[in-house]
Amino acid sequence: MSEPTIDLAGCPIIDAHSHGWRTDELLALEPAGFLDRITMMGMCLISSELLDAPLEGHLRSLTDSTPLASMMRRRLAARLGVEPTREAVGTARLAALREDPQGYLGGLWQHAGLAGAIVDEGYPQPTIPTAELQAAANLPIHRVARIEPWIVALRDGAASFDEMEDAFVATAERAPDEGAVAFKSIIAYRTGLDVQPWSREDARAAFDRWRADGWRESREHAKPVRDVLLRRTFEVAATAGGLPIHIHCGGGDPAIVLAHARPQDLFALLSERLHQPVVLIHSGQPWLDEGAYVASILPHVYLEMSITMPWASLAIDTKLEALLGIAPPSKVLYGSDEATEPEVLWLSALVGREALQRVLGRAVARGWLEHDEARDVGAGVLGGNAARLHGITL
Ligand SMILES: [Zn+2]
Repeated sequence: MSEPTIDLAGCPIIDAHSHGWRTDELLALEPAGFLDRITMMGMCLISSELLDAPLEGHLRSLTDSTPLASMMRRRLAARLGVEPTREAVGTARLAALREDPQGYLGGLWQHAGLAGAIVDEGYPQPTIPTAELQAAANLPIHRVARIEPWIVALRDGAASFDEMEDAFVATAERAPDEGAVAFKSIIAYRTGLDVQPWSREDARAAFDRWRADGWRESREHAKPVRDVLLRRTFEVAATAGGLPIHIHCGGGDPAIVLAHARPQDLFALLSERLHQPVVLIHSGQPWLDEGAYVASILPHVYLEMSITMPWASLAIDTKLEALLGIAPPSKVLYGSDEATEPEVLWLSALVGREALQRVLGRAVARGWLEHDEARDVGAGVLGGNAARLHGITL
């Protein structure tokens, strides 16, 4: 008996969390390392700058038995018309990227039904201007303005916390007019998600101590400043037409403050802001059930499913069932967190659509949803929910 599925072939995909790339940098990378760079291990070692020569060989041996790498190797080989080997795929995709990057990538997006990407401009640094990325990617790009690079850029020139805060707020206020569809914070990578209600005096004193400490990240000095500036971002977003705030929530690369990265750490702040849309980027994975629970009780907390998608591979279906079963499905957004190689946007969209078709097919078979309801849920998760939340026309 074949598995029940819901056909979502015609539903456009908006990737709600991804990152840009510079084609010339991709062309300079070793072709045979392509599959290593798309694994969770490879991506994290690169983004946290921990990949050294001894780790590179070990990484390669881990890649060879990783389901996602195997899937990419075989499906991209079929797409490129080459043998499904590490070397052949790495060489052929490099040649395609060199000869006609827009044509090659545009073909992938069309094949996967990818209609646009909501891109966190904070990685890689320096920021890639949206227009530049959109031209290189041959895909509609929607900008997410990350607040942490502003703090780095502004703190040295500020004589006091008040001066820095004013400059920060002015920068944030300009973002919607400069095309941003959301704000983003990675405070979980800096001082943790447990944002506290500091006084102005706390923030002023902490700013001076932080400077004296050489801007070293610490929960004693940096945290009060970062917490207050994130709160100011909420205020700016609320007045700027209700722009959503994306907050990295859950694990990440080894630079994460893992002790304070859980959805429950963010709960106090989210509870104060019941009417304001916040997207938990990664849904709190590996505490995904906890993220889904928070979104099930706080009305404007959304869940974005990258990291699960595509890296959980074998486990994607059960994770999706948890998200869609626990939280209202109209607050669940498809996303990939592609951050190294653009082909991840494509593969993740393919496997994401397929997993959703299976999960929703089972939901109908078990009597939880009617067929048309399941199809609407699928269309929303793939693109409709992200489009509605960010004011994007599909
Ligand atoms: Zn990301």
